[in-house]
Amino acid sequence: MALIVQKYGGTSVGSVERIQAVAQRVYQTVKTGNSLVVVVSAMGKTTDGLVKIANEISPNPNRREMDMLLSTGEQVTIALVSMALQEIGQPAISMTGAQVGIVTEAEHTRARILHIETNRLSRHINQGKVVVVAGFQGISSLRDMEITTLGRGGSDTSAVALAAALQADFCEIYTDVPGILTTDPRLVPEAQLMDEITCNEMLELASLGAKVLHPRAVEIARNYGVPLVVRSSWTDAAGTWVRSPKNQERSLVNLEIARPVDNVEFDTDQAKVALLRVPDKPGVAARLFGEISRQDVDVDLIIQSIHEGNSNDIAFTVTTPILKRAEAVAAAIAPALRSQSHPKSDEAEVMVEQNIAKVSIAGAGMIGRPGVAAKMFATLAEAEVNIQMISTSEVKVSCVVDATECERAVAALRKAFEIEADKETRGQGRQKETFYTQHSARAKRPASALSAAMPAGLYSTQHSPPPVRGVALDMNQARLAIRQVPDRPGMAARLFGLLAQHNVSVDMIIQSQRCRVIDGIPRRDIAFTVSRIDGESTQKMLTQVAAELGWGEVVLDNAIAKVSIVGAGMVGQPGIAAKMFEALAQHQINIQMIATSEIKISCVVAQEQGVKALQLIHAAFGLAGSEKFIIPA
Ligand code: ADP
Ligand code: ASP
Ligand code: MG
Repeated sequence: MALIVQKYGGTSVGSVERIQAVAQRVYQTVKTGNSLVVVVSAMGKTTDGLVKIANEISPNPNRREMDMLLSTGEQVTIALVSMALQEIGQPAISMTGAQVGIVTEAEHTRARILHIETNRLSRHINQGKVVVVAGFQGISSLRDMEITTLGRGGSDTSAVALAAALQADFCEIYTDVPGILTTDPRLVPEAQLMDEITCNEMLELASLGAKVLHPRAVEIARNYGVPLVVRSSWTDAAGTWVRSPKNQERSLVNLEIARPVDNVEFDTDQAKVALLRVPDKPGVAARLFGEISRQDVDVDLIIQSIHEGNSNDIAFTVTTPILKRAEAVAAAIAPALRSQSHPKSDEAEVMVEQNIAKVSIAGAGMIGRPGVAAKMFATLAEAEVNIQMISTSEVKVSCVVDATECERAVAALRKAFEIEADKETRGQGRQKETFYTQHSARAKRPASALSAAMPAGLYSTQHSPPPVRGVALDMNQARLAIRQVPDRPGMAARLFGLLAQHNVSVDMIIQSQRCRVIDGIPRRDIAFTVSRIDGESTQKMLTQVAAELGWGEVVLDNAIAKVSIVGAGMVGQPGIAAKMFEALAQHQINIQMIATSEIKISCVVAQEQGVKALQLIHAAFGLAGSEKFIIPA
């Protein structure tokens, strides 16, 4: 007999008929000999409706009251689903987050789960009941009993956290699409279904805008090795499995906040090539990286920063042995770019830096937890290490530093994040991700037809996946740029410390390569993207401290879209970035910012070009199928 957690999203419980269909599926699953905990969302668009009413009363409602309001949606569904089960003869009981004892941080509207009491749940399960739990909600502590919510889309997280706490055999997320597709089928109906995806790829996709799974749900699945599948509640099709590494022993205390960093890595075999003052117009990145890929040069990190005026800086890193080739390409292409930027005094220029190293922290949920990157930068500042380039993603934050400072940086980071020194971490920069057989211990207990459907062992050894698995679009981002930030150790730490204090998550961070000396101090621009809802308040907060920190103006742009490709197979494959940039260039879409990490490449484009950009890129990588997905209304 298996213990399964099933989660049903809003559309899956959007009507009486849908609730009855859910009850039938639950009943069938129990009949085949399984125990079940069912997590449900609010019906249909109930939560959106509640947010709208609140905003009609207050443009900026109190966050505690917001939680009180939004948590009601799920409470309606648990009662109705429980009734529907009882009606067909299945013993069931509904429970709110508080009744279960889902204890969270006291952080209203975005609380992380600390701990889940399992006693009451287990007692009911042992009595043969299906327990129907309200997703998305918890309580601040067993004493205070303040209702909290986990953030929009958080029911997925409730479900996976419950599966981890109960050591369930697996967790099924039922939704309105047949599983995880190469992109959002609402934007590209020809998107294709994947049988499986690695948790790191899914973490990136989810945090880059693919709302099919809440990123924190994937984070928990990864950390606790919870087998996770996304399926349609309309059909019996197998869905998509999210593959995690073999589960390590992890404490269930501080479930969502403990130990975000698993490893500190470094790579001294790196060199940086920067092109300064390239014209800000469509096709420039495509041309540069097209030529680079024709020369079979594999680039690692790429950044393109915005800059005052109408020119950009593009920088990339390569491994030292191919530096000469990369440099030659850049030098050959620079004059061609140069002739397009008019003021003669402001010409494109190639800059090469050989003595650099990349140091990284690896784990899960880095973007969602702004304090982690802030701690990395603060640690480097304290060790007096200057950061030359930053790359962030959900699974890794990397900094390019001077090679002579690498050892000091790594030692400081290991100490700060409590990573043992004997881990093999050297030169892991561009290693292919290993695919794991996930279900080792658990797969020996396949008690149902459903678990038999798990494609276990398919990737039991190293396996080469396609370079790009999915494309995601985030239309809810804003870009902030701080002008003329003094270039000295500690600046990134100050900035990200401030952002973390205000709980603002940052995705792309880019420092301009160009240094300008003003008042005797070398300065660079720093640009980054945040959720649009945080844009204005962050601009205000940073403007208040700008003068004191010696920064220039803080500029906000809300009209952006971020389009990203994700795939573990892009590691060590030249030409992936070039293909993405080329797809945009062909349609005259200007790239405003580029940031990459090992398994993703993101571009910022104008907001109105976001959807088109997604469609072009999806097609360019040949991800479209012949079948169109129709999403149930
Ligand atoms: P639920 O209410 O079940 O939680 P959501 O609306 O939160 O459902 O998530 C499902 C939606 O996610 C789909 O309807 C689809 O539009 C969207 N989506 C975005 N990216 C993807 C993707 N890569 N694969 C599948 N669905 C996606
Ligand atoms: N009902 C909540 C929302 O709409 C949580 C969820 O559906 O996951 O955000
Ligand atoms: Mg959802």
